[in-house]
Amino acid sequence: MIWLTHSVFAFLISKLWFNELSLTQAIFLFFASVFPDIDNKKSLIGKVFKLNIKHREIFHSLIFFLPLSYVFYIFLGEKYFVLFLIGSVSHILLDSLTKSGVRILYPMKFRIKGFFKTNSFSEYLLLFLFLILLIFFLD
Ligand SMILES: [Zn+2]
Repeated sequence: MIWLTHSVFAFLISKLWFNELSLTQAIFLFFASVFPDIDNKKSLIGKVFKLNIKHREIFHSLIFFLPLSYVFYIFLGEKYFVLFLIGSVSHILLDSLTKSGVRILYPMKFRIKGFFKTNSFSEYLLLFLFLILLIFFLD
């Protein structure tokens, strides 16, 4: 999925969970929603960090993100912990709807796949649905 779909979906989930975010929290949520794609040099965040890591492995694994989220709980508190979980877990779940899928419990081989193709018309329809829902739930 593209970064816009990930971030709009994360904002939709956080709107239902928290109702309000500060600007700092919103920026943090955006970062969390695009963070897993740090393993893809063509992605928004991957272009900045240029890491040599295989795409959709460790950085798309719940086994990696659950302990990492706890680090945010220790240093920034409960709200940032939940925001990081919303951003990263929603990213991984959306990517698991794509044809290439995600090894959601990497290093285990088990992979979840769907039928969406990244950056395709079907993804844009999903993005449009998320935007409509987000607008609907805004006050
Ligand atoms: Zn991804």
